Parts: sequence; C-alpha cells; structure tokens
Amino acid sequence: MLVAPCRHGTTALTEAVIRKINSTTLRNRAGNATFTLRLLSTSASTDQQPKPKQQPFTSSSTSSSSPPVASTHFGFRNVKTEEKENLVRGVFDSVAESYDVMNDVMSAGVHRLWKDYFVQSTRVEFLAKAVRRNSTNASDNDNEEELRILDVAGGTGDIAFRMIDAMQCEERSKSSGKDPVSVTVCDINTEMLRVGQRRARERYGSSLLDDTKALSFIEGNAQSLVKFDDNSFDLYTIAFGLRNVTDVDMALREALRVLKPGGRFMCLEFSHLPHPALQSMYDLYSFNLIPAMGQMVANDRDSYQYLVESIRKFSDQETLVRRMKDAGMQGAKYTNLTGGIVAIHEGWKPLE
Ligand code: SAM
Repeated sequence: MLVAPCRHGTTALTEAVIRKINSTTLRNRAGNATFTLRLLSTSASTDQQPKPKQQPFTSSSTSSSSPPVASTHFGFRNVKTEEKENLVRGVFDSVAESYDVMNDVMSAGVHRLWKDYFVQSTRVEFLAKAVRRNSTNASDNDNEEELRILDVAGGTGDIAFRMIDAMQCEERSKSSGKDPVSVTVCDINTEMLRVGQRRARERYGSSLLDDTKALSFIEGNAQSLVKFDDNSFDLYTIAFGLRNVTDVDMALREALRVLKPGGRFMCLEFSHLPHPALQSMYDLYSFNLIPAMGQMVANDRDSYQYLVESIRKFSDQETLVRRMKDAGMQGAKYTNLTGGIVAIHEGWKPLE
C-alpha cells in the first residue's frame, strides 16, 4: 500500500470528541481503508536529524558560516526570523495558480491518496452524522450541537473539500439550507485563498459559501489565530503547512488555544524515512527532479527548491511528537504513510 499506515508513539487517548457526541455508532473505518500499491513498511524512527547535502536555494543564497542572531531556516538558507514569513508568502504567491497541477506532477497523484487517508482518519463523516442527529433531536431550548472544523494552511481547499464531501454538506445545504457542521479554511496567503474560493464556487456553486456557510475562507497566521476564539473548534487540521510556519511551537500552542477541551489536532506533513538508503534514494529524486519539474511545469525552480529543502529541514516524526507534547497536547502520536515520506501526527487538547 502506498499509503500503508503504521502507528507509533504513545497509546491513543480516549477519543473525547467522538465520545462526546454519541460515539456508540462510530467506528474507525479509516483503518479499513483499502489502498493499493504498498511501497514500504516502516520502522520506529529516531530523533536523529538527517544530514542533507547543502544546496543553494538561489544564486543569492547566503554563504556566511555563522547564522545571524535570531535566525531561522528558509529551506537550507539561514534568514532573519522576521524575514521568513514574507519569503514563504512569496513562494505561495508564486505557486498558487500551478499548485494543484504541480502536486499531481510531483507525487504522481499520490498526494491525493495521502489526503484521502488523512481525511478518513479524522472520521468527520461519522462526527457530522452524529452532530446532525443530535441537533435534530435537540429541543429549541437545548444548546444546539455543532461540529466546527478549522483547516489551517488550507491553501486551495484540498482538505476542506474532502471533508465537505465526506460530510455531505452540499446535499445538506440543498435539502435544509442549514447545517450545524462547518469547515473554515484559514491561510496566510491571499492568493492561495483566492484560488481556493474560486475552486469552491466551481465545485459547489454558492450555497455552501453564502447560504449555509458550511465552508468559509479566512486569512490568518497559524502562529496567531486572532480571528478565532479560545475553545471554539472540535477539530484542527493542518496539511503540508506546519513546516512552512516560522515558529512551529507557537503554532502548536495556538492550535490548542482554539480547540475545545477534548478537541483533536491532526497534522499531515512530509517527514523522514527511517532507513538511510531509502532516504538517499528519496533525496536523489526530490533534489534532482522536483525543482526541474517546477521549472518545466510552472517555470519556477526556486519555489520547488524551497519545497524540497523545507521538507528536509522539518522535524522528524519523534521530534514533532515531542514538540506537540511540549505544547500541551495529550496522546501525541504519529502514523507513517509511504514508509515515512509523509506522516500524520495527532493529539488532543486535554479535557479541563
Ligand atoms: N493544505 C493545503 C494542501 O494540503 O493542499 C495547502 C498546503 S501548501 C503546501 C502550504 C500552505 O501553507 C500555503 O497555502 C501557505 O500559504 C500556507 N502557510 C504558510 N505559512 C503559514 C502560516 N504561518 N499560517 C497559515 N498558513 C500558512
């Protein structure tokens, strides 16, 4: 299976969100997902950071041996911390229009399977059913049950659309015009959001965005989600976004702030292959082919050079688990897909 899951990390915590909304009928169908093309199985990862070959990002990449004070990485370059956000913004401004095509080209379509599996793992389909059933049964005086999902770094909407489809929000909006379920896409980049909104209207028409408001797009920074209240979401997702954030630990703490107690954090991100030989083969592919494909398809080598460098600079599986725990998440664990090329990390906001 190309997306064969392999779980590691701590034992799963009681899945509080699911239980809270009548879990008896819910079961993890994600575990039964049938994907073909198994490439690799995985073994336990280590805290060791791989040592990639240094490659310049652009002809103007820094050559200084000592990084500046308060610096961070942008791909393999050391940059001032305050510069990174704009550099990342520049990358996604540049790739927004070609982003979806390039994802298919670079991964031979496999990113779709990763995203499908990720969304199945959230179990939103069952959560939505339970919430709608409870909200239909609730009397006018009861507090209406809601399922609120925040997809941070949601870009052009790939994760949100899968959730909307899994939860049948379009059908719901046509039949009742009202839905206790909502997905909010939040992204720092207006261009990515613009492409996402256009795709949403092409795909669903206007009802989801304008009538039921089951789907919305909001500009915001994962590090400081100022537009969202404390304790306001049941599920926080972030797919291929966390490694682009300047201060990852701040983003993890902010995820916890906006999650309701018992709410779930889920992250899909490129990660590290546990076997050095496989990592070398993967490096050969990614450092040589991906920037070249970026040049050919999108006329943009530099952005795709950043992409592969940012993957290599990002935390490995165990390190991210530790950072999640440090931020205060419970039950932090991960599941490798495709042998660790990507991993799903998840954790819970503790019940108060
Ligand atoms: N989640 C989408 C997907 O899986 O197709 C998009 C992923 S794209 C590789 C990364 C996204 O992260 C971009 O849309 C970018 O604008 C966004 N991003 C980068 N830094 C961010 C930040 N600090 N806060 C919110 N979004 C950010």
